[in-house]
Amino acid sequence: MSFRRARRLLLAAALGTALQSLAQPPSLPPMAPQQVSPSAWYVQGQSALGSPANGNFISNAGFVVTPAGVVVIDALGSPALAERLLAEIRRITPQPVTHIILTHYHADHIYGLQAFKAAGARVLAHQRGREYLQSDTARLRLQASRTELAPWIDEKTQMVAADEWLDGPRELVVGGVRLRILPVGPSHTAEDVVVHLPQEQVLFAGDIVFRGRIPFVGQADSRRWIAALDEALKLEAQVLVPGHGPHSSQPRQDMELTRDYLLHLRKVMGEAARNLEPWEDAYKAADWSRFEKLPLFQAANRMNAYNTYLLMEQE
Ligand SMILES: [Zn+2]
Repeated sequence: MSFRRARRLLLAAALGTALQSLAQPPSLPPMAPQQVSPSAWYVQGQSALGSPANGNFISNAGFVVTPAGVVVIDALGSPALAERLLAEIRRITPQPVTHIILTHYHADHIYGLQAFKAAGARVLAHQRGREYLQSDTARLRLQASRTELAPWIDEKTQMVAADEWLDGPRELVVGGVRLRILPVGPSHTAEDVVVHLPQEQVLFAGDIVFRGRIPFVGQADSRRWIAALDEALKLEAQVLVPGHGPHSSQPRQDMELTRDYLLHLRKVMGEAARNLEPWEDAYKAADWSRFEKLPLFQAANRMNAYNTYLLMEQE
């Protein structure tokens, strides 16, 4: 084959691929609402890091269906995911989404917010979420996500402030269903809240509970996070919907993974910090066997351990 003909074929192939990608936008992973009590439902994100392939569907969102409207808990990780959830809710009830409660302001729980706002929902979050909204961390994260999570996060994706900033517990009654919004921060974040349905003994725990994966600890205050888990245990819920991973009908046992992991991090890294042992040596010497088979161990554990070491140096 001549050089010219080969080049023509190559160009045609490249054009074909480009046209194909125009014709077929990437698709989102499946989303299947699960009912966990008469009124409470949720959709479960994947145990993975956000990517163009999963559309940033890596966190859960809950929703409570009442005769007078739907209350959504967390907004998912992109506007397209939020639109998908709104469509799923419309298949279950003709009621509009009246409220959306954010358990905390982390990217994977808030980038869908604008879709709920456009659908007329009132946004409730703890007032310390303002700190995140105004931070460089939030701005840089969104900027990076517009590249890393394209086309799902783009120039039109915005962060949205709450309509009502909470500074204490708040009770919401919609269609006869009571929802108690209880601040439990600073723990995973400064602004964590959990949402409790006392009539149905359901707890939407946000990211103070991770199931079936290593938690993302970030800059969290792990001592207060453990205390928040103790507070959540007192609610004696029968069903727990975590911020990540499947729901649980054994909340007490299932909160133990997050709790034990945090306790382990604090013990190992605390000893190292007290003994002025270099972090790298302490990390290598530590026994991670109970946790290393869990999803996202490779992605999260080193950073979690490092942040905990720095935290324990301060405590
Ligand atoms: Zn999360």
